Amino acid sequence: MAFDSLSEKLQNVFKNLRRKGRLTEEDVKAALKEVKLALLEADVNFKVVKNFVKSVQERAVGSDVMNGLNPGQMVIKIVNEEMVKLMGSETTEIALKPGIAITVIMMAGLQGAGKTTTTAKIAGKLKQKGKKPLLAACDVYRPAAIAQLQTNGEKQGVEVFSMGDSHKPVNIAKAAVEHASKNGFNVVILDTAGRLHIDEEMMDELIEIKEQVDVSQTILVVDSMTGQDAVNVASTFEEKIGIDGVVLTKLDGDTRGGAALSIRAVTGKPILYIGMGEKLSDLEQFYPDRMASRILGMGDVLTLIEKAQEDLDETKAAEMEKRLRKAQFTFDDYLESMNQMKKMGGLTSILSMMPGMGGSQMKQIEDAVDEKKMARIEAMIYSMTARERSGQDGLSPSRKRRIANGAGVDISDVNRLVKQFDQMKKMMKQMPGMMGKGKRGGKFG
Ligand code: GDP
Repeated sequence: MAFDSLSEKLQNVFKNLRRKGRLTEEDVKAALKEVKLALLEADVNFKVVKNFVKSVQERAVGSDVMNGLNPGQMVIKIVNEEMVKLMGSETTEIALKPGIAITVIMMAGLQGAGKTTTTAKIAGKLKQKGKKPLLAACDVYRPAAIAQLQTNGEKQGVEVFSMGDSHKPVNIAKAAVEHASKNGFNVVILDTAGRLHIDEEMMDELIEIKEQVDVSQTILVVDSMTGQDAVNVASTFEEKIGIDGVVLTKLDGDTRGGAALSIRAVTGKPILYIGMGEKLSDLEQFYPDRMASRILGMGDVLTLIEKAQEDLDETKAAEMEKRLRKAQFTFDDYLESMNQMKKMGGLTSILSMMPGMGGSQMKQIEDAVDEKKMARIEAMIYSMTARERSGQDGLSPSRKRRIANGAGVDISDVNRLVKQFDQMKKMMKQMPGMMGKGKRGGKFG
């Protein structure tokens, strides 16, 4: 799977950070050293790594820890944000001309990068968007490239324009555009000829096409498994012919991810799509934020961080924590905590991030707070009087029966709720602080 080895290394670094309640500047430095090594081993461009680590370090040392997060989570947040930035932040789409105007897309790349396959994949995507694409077989050098394009075009239900292999690519391209305008196509995708290595002839051919055909998008296809070679190829193409975007193929087999992380920063050009397999449907839009969380392998923590940012009512949380610590947890708090938890995307995921939560303890709580049962719990708590909810009145058997009737449940459900509530109260008291931790965490360093 993509990025496995990089993800694993980064996750180990963060696991160690998350174990610590407070971080010193030294902790951050040591962690970033590990991050640096992991990125270099993933074949991320050296300069990119250096700048990346520098930005993270500066931000981490200077920043306040956000409420709702611990310092370890704060570092992950910063690493994640910088990683998203590195990959361009925004999703970039292929720029298409509106309506019947013809957009000519020139595909370029070395032999074997996946250009012909990607050409057909993109045609499928554009067709889905309601465009009428025409594929032009301009790769007259690689044996069987034309037949391959024809087969793939057929699979996608997209017409392929071909003149065999005895014409110059630029002439095929011109004829294809003419054919398109006569037959109502509004996109022409040129599958140009690659070479095994970058050579003058190939570049000249592409420049000639660009000069003589109204190419509006030049898309470079590179093989992500080649790591920094892919980045170098992209730089050279950008320099010599100018490119508008990159498709990174074979990411499904790339465990390192160096090209994905470097291309944007080195060439200034966005990744448009990623190839995730040999099938024609295996082409995905590139989302820098999703890619970063895939690389960090921490969807759960990142979601928590996001939600903490958006939703957590800090004052309420701090108040609740104070009460928890004094063991004054009431049914009202239980309700409130359920609301907070719901906002934060599930109690179990949060509990699993708590240090020291695991095994049977975790299971017990999971059972107690099965989200499907939450509605029933709410109904029971709402059937209590205010004094019962605040703990001023104890729950006698007759009160329990009244609550059960009110909520439309069995009295045994009420008994279970009370038991779980007591258990939860006990456990929450034992939990290391999480809410409002920022106030105590303070600045790094
Ligand atoms: P071209 O010489 O650049 O036109 O390359 P091809 O399109 O013929 O692709 C070369 C090989 O890479 C073929 O076997 C493709 O099936 C394979 N390939 C292309 N894209 C991907 C991808 O995203 N993932 C995987 N696993 N294989 C791919």
